[in-house]
Amino acid sequence: MNIHEYQGKEILRSYGVTVPNGKVAFTVEEAVEAARELGTQICVVKAQIHAGGRGKAGGVKVAKNLDEVRTYASEILGKTLVTHQTGPEGKEVTRLLIEEGCDIKKEYYIGLVLDRATSRVVLMASEEGGTEIEEVAEKTPEKIFKEEIDPVIGLQPFQARRVAFNINIPKELVNQAVKFMLSLYQAYIEKDCSIAEINPLVVTGDGKVMALDAKLNFDSNALFRQKDVLEYRDLDEEDPKEIEASKYDLSYIALDGNIGCMVNGAGLAMATMDIVKHYGGDPANFLDVGGGATAEKVTEAFKIILSDSKVKGIFVNIFGGIMKCDVIATGVVEAAKQVGLEVPLVVRLEGTNVELGKQILNESGLNIVAAESMADGAERIVSLVK
Ligand code: ADP
Ligand code: MG
Repeated sequence: MNIHEYQGKEILRSYGVTVPNGKVAFTVEEAVEAARELGTQICVVKAQIHAGGRGKAGGVKVAKNLDEVRTYASEILGKTLVTHQTGPEGKEVTRLLIEEGCDIKKEYYIGLVLDRATSRVVLMASEEGGTEIEEVAEKTPEKIFKEEIDPVIGLQPFQARRVAFNINIPKELVNQAVKFMLSLYQAYIEKDCSIAEINPLVVTGDGKVMALDAKLNFDSNALFRQKDVLEYRDLDEEDPKEIEASKYDLSYIALDGNIGCMVNGAGLAMATMDIVKHYGGDPANFLDVGGGATAEKVTEAFKIILSDSKVKGIFVNIFGGIMKCDVIATGVVEAAKQVGLEVPLVVRLEGTNVELGKQILNESGLNIVAAESMADGAERIVSLVK
């Protein structure tokens, strides 16, 4: 799960990570009022969306007085911001962070991320802050320094110090930078983050080390024990189909293609997407209905797939182990009747009660193509969609 910058900064502040003072605003009036309360000469008006690259896209503006705050706030609020992370459709801005302007001497990059290869959290840092770290990694990889963190003892001060020296933090500020990194690590661990990225971390004219941007992502599987983090969830930033799916405990990820896939088991779902691709098709989604899905759950899954206007055909690929084929078939028929299925549907069933399942499909009166195998099913749906 992703949260907004201002929320990330709230969390970081509670861990003693230095961040600029700021306030969230939902209207232009609130923005001006927030700037007045901050009382600083220079204010920064920042679009709050779940994507980076706002600066370059015009979503971060420096205001020298309250009039400029008003101007920028009215410009940015309600605007659809297109950044390299939003995709071409962009994201509408409905909240702003009004923050005190910071006298930046130099921008750095600090990030904590889980390295799945070593199963450890890695501290990454660079002197090249403010820009896209992916670009730095590609063009000048020697400018990125990494420290692997032992999960038992956590980030050690000597590691943080080594990073601070490597990225050339001014000597007199190294201790502050070390404290910054240790606090950031503590927040990362205690809040079950999957990413904590500070880009830029800055050194200011008056000798402070602070986080000017904050991107925190959380492990969704840990949210049951992070109730306060869950309160930060902003449903406007999420795909409505994915929200609907999460209500029914379905693992659903929207993709760009036009073949809706309904599968049970994450491994089979991945394999199904692969085989659809193999035959020249493009999956519209990843969907795992789980091992013990009920007919109701299957119906909901089906509705979610069909609510995607890009979907031109559906491939149901189910292995009935725990889940019985007749339950799946009933759910599919029920859903197809409820929503009025207008696109081709190919179903491949295998496993427990498969004959009963096929019978239910055949007797439904619906136009369903029964596939003999996974490959057969994939080939058929691809050709039907074309
Ligand atoms: P994004 O990464 O989405 O572009 P950032 O929060 O990193 O957004 O802001 C982009 C740039 O704007 C920063 O690199 C920094 O130069 C400037 N900036 C952001 N916040 C402030 C602030 N409070 N004071 C001064 N400059 C800022
Ligand atoms: Mg940034």
